[in-house]
Amino acid sequence: MTSLNKKICLLGDAAVGKTSLVRRFVYNLFDDKYLSTIGVKVSRKTVAVPRADGVIELTMMLWDLAGSEEFDRVRSSYLRGAAGAILVCDLTRPETIDSLRVYADSLSRVNPNAQVVILGANKCDLVDRQALDLAPIERVAADLNASYYLVSAKTGHEVDNLFRHLGRLLVT
Ligand code: GDP
Ligand code: MG
Repeated sequence: MTSLNKKICLLGDAAVGKTSLVRRFVYNLFDDKYLSTIGVKVSRKTVAVPRADGVIELTMMLWDLAGSEEFDRVRSSYLRGAAGAILVCDLTRPETIDSLRVYADSLSRVNPNAQVVILGANKCDLVDRQALDLAPIERVAADLNASYYLVSAKTGHEVDNLFRHLGRLLVT
């Protein structure tokens, strides 16, 4: 079986739920406390990804970083070598959606070949799906040529699908 190893960066404003999404995907756990990430944390999860020529064993190296001033200092070293990114916004804070363009720009500047991104609009457990205005998310996703998922790290809704979709993109 072919094995691949890919670096994936979690990107998004502070408290949108980056750490929680990784925690849900890797450990299937959730914590209500806000554990501000100190420095960089790398978690890994290996998934079997189907490809035309067989199943690929993909190890996703998930890089997670605090969304504070530290970010500016380590930005390029954090992003270097990334094959892709999960851009995370918080559905209860529309301003976190616009930030995603900035993160995507940084990623493609440091890493012109890492154009594979996917959007996770997190905390869908806190919003009324009927009342939700998806237009801003759809616009950003279209501009970045990316898919988006409405997810909840808290309930686990669509979290697996988000990460696995990125996994499929990274092996093709
Ligand atoms: P980060 O700064 O982007 O890593 O954000 P965290 O993962 O630390 O989450 C910030 C806060 O939002 C924490 O209090 C989490 O418990 C909470 N949180 C994260 N994801 C969700 C979610 O899907 N639903 C709800 N209700 N709260 C969430
Ligand atoms: Mg964090």
